[in-house]
Amino acid sequence: RAREREMRILILGLDNAGKTTLMKKFLGEPTDTIEPTLGFDIKTVHFKEYQLNLWDVGGQKSLRSYWKNYFESTDALIWVVDSSDRERLNQCSEELKKLLGEEKLAGATLLVLANKSDLTSAIDVETISEVLDLKSIKSHHWKIFSCCALSGDNRLVQSINWLCDDDP
Ligand code: GDP
Repeated sequence: RAREREMRILILGLDNAGKTTLMKKFLGEPTDTIEPTLGFDIKTVHFKEYQLNLWDVGGQKSLRSYWKNYFESTDALIWVVDSSDRERLNQCSEELKKLLGEEKLAGATLLVLANKSDLTSAIDVETISEVLDLKSIKSHHWKIFSCCALSGDNRLVQSINWLCDDDP
């Protein structure tokens, strides 16, 4: 069997988007006792022929200036969106735009997860895609999925499948 390929995945998004919940889901850990991420947390999971190194970095405003310390050698960026957070959707869009302009993230694949799709207040994935202006992104290979990190539905697996796909 061929040696596992390593992939460095940075999980970012505004605070409360569900990054840590997602991470726990990937790891098969319980999601009922989650504290806000104040620093960062690195975990490794094996998926298909990949070793995924997941970096969960805190998203509070005061922590966002530290995000750049984690950009180096990133293969993929998972941008987690709280689909029910209408008030901060513009802020969410602005932060993503800033990231996409970062030189060190130039080669990274972008996976946008419109999380919390279980909530009745969730904005639909097409609208989120529009507000984030994803169609205008030419600099990165990207795709958006809606998902529910809490229940860990199969769209989550689909999205990681897409990320680990060898298609350019
Ligand atoms: P982080 O700050 O981005 O790491 O967000 P957390 O993972 O700490 O989650 C923030 C809050 O959102 C917690 O209360 C989670 O239980 C909740 N949450 C996360 N994912 C979902 C989801 O898919 N659906 C719902 N309803 N709540 C979620």
